Amino acid sequence: MPGMSEAQTPAAVLNNATLAARDLQHVWHPCTQMRDHEQHPPIPIHHGRGPWLYDYDGRRYLDGISSWWTNLFGHAHPEISAAVAKQATQLEHVLLAGFTHEPAVQLAEQLVRLAPAGLTRCFYADNGSAAVEVALKMSFHYWQNRGAKAKRRFLTLSNSYHGETLGALAVGDVPLYRQTYQPLLLDVLTAPSPDAYEREPGETPEAHARRKFVAMEALLQQHAGELAAVIVEPLVQCAGSMRMYHPVYLQLLRDACDRYGVHLIADEIAVGFGRTGTLFACEQAGIRPDFMCLSKGLTGGYLPLSAVLTGEEIYAAFYDEYAAQRAFLHSHSYTGNPLACAAALATLAQFARGGVLESNRQLSARMAARIAPLAAHPHVVDIRQCGMILAVEFAQDRASRNPYPWQQRRGLAMHRIALEREVLLRPIGDVIYAMPPYVLSDDECDLLVDTMIHCVERVCGD
Ligand SMILES: *Cc1c(COP(=O)(O)O)cnc(C)c1O
Repeated sequence: MPGMSEAQTPAAVLNNATLAARDLQHVWHPCTQMRDHEQHPPIPIHHGRGPWLYDYDGRRYLDGISSWWTNLFGHAHPEISAAVAKQATQLEHVLLAGFTHEPAVQLAEQLVRLAPAGLTRCFYADNGSAAVEVALKMSFHYWQNRGAKAKRRFLTLSNSYHGETLGALAVGDVPLYRQTYQPLLLDVLTAPSPDAYEREPGETPEAHARRKFVAMEALLQQHAGELAAVIVEPLVQCAGSMRMYHPVYLQLLRDACDRYGVHLIADEIAVGFGRTGTLFACEQAGIRPDFMCLSKGLTGGYLPLSAVLTGEEIYAAFYDEYAAQRAFLHSHSYTGNPLACAAALATLAQFARGGVLESNRQLSARMAARIAPLAAHPHVVDIRQCGMILAVEFAQDRASRNPYPWQQRRGLAMHRIALEREVLLRPIGDVIYAMPPYVLSDDECDLLVDTMIHCVERVCGD
């Protein structure tokens, strides 16, 4: 057919192989050594429904990791989709400087109502890393505006992850993401994580968290004069292999930050919106951070959006005559996008109906019961769970907990085995985990956990 490009040929076949081949001509994928795709091309997804993703060859995959922890109520959810579609016919976008729109106003009102009391101001951005950048800059800028010019450093926990733009990367500690870019990064202070995996035999997670806090307290005491903020992922270090810690650490940290005059930034980007069993993880410690970063589940997994919530005292430090030059001038083009806000409002409407956290408790208990026998496996060193996050850590040697050589890529092998059983799992290092949408049936829940068990047995059988 002269004059027609291949893509427009009516007979062009759409299947997994043809789409993957076209993809690999031009698309550069995230978090991927592209050469791996010579062996295993990316899987083109045609549509989603509930917790399932469907490819072009008629195969389906249970989304066991909520498409990177974003999806809460399933794919192509009728009500969230309708809300986005409706908003698209009314207003797709308007700049949020000098203008506003109903979805942004409503969403800010609702987030303030749901968040820990006192977080009354909502600053929008458009992804998780951007929210972390906003919180860091706002904290630093607050101290500048208050005349505390020396307070310009940040303190983070070992094994933390806060995103991959340069500021967010600097306050993260996972070597995989950080190492290469180290020369470009801010100089931060790092306290040892209270990660309960590292507790001594016989030590409770709470006692361990209290013990680990001693080092945090010492750093705060020594560096308070130069510290703007401490940043933490409340309760679960997700990208850091789903390591979990006791909420008492957050209480101690809140108290110490107040005593030393240092902000506390809670990065709830992964753990917010019910993941840990409460709407926000901070609730389990009964604390209010100075900044709370939200994204991922905020839109139910539909569209990129993020928000940083903070309080009146911080807001007031920026509020002045224009000529005083104290305003926070950070901006992203798609800040507070109306389509994304509409998706977020429809997502919050699902929570407002009630029953979400209760039914998650049942799913969570079902997962716990079903995974329990795996604890006896000779290569399983830890099974941990926090709400809707279930993780199994495996190792080469149970006594020493020595990991398998990373070059063996056992997690990747598990990923492939799970796909054969119609389940999408994506282990992090030597940890296989489930972080599913909240809409699993009992059978789907069992399939998910059974697949985790099967993967460990196949890949870590001797
Ligand atoms: C995913 C994540 C981020 C980064 O969000 P992006 O939208 O991927 O930039 C930041 N912090 C935590 C805790 C995350 O899990």
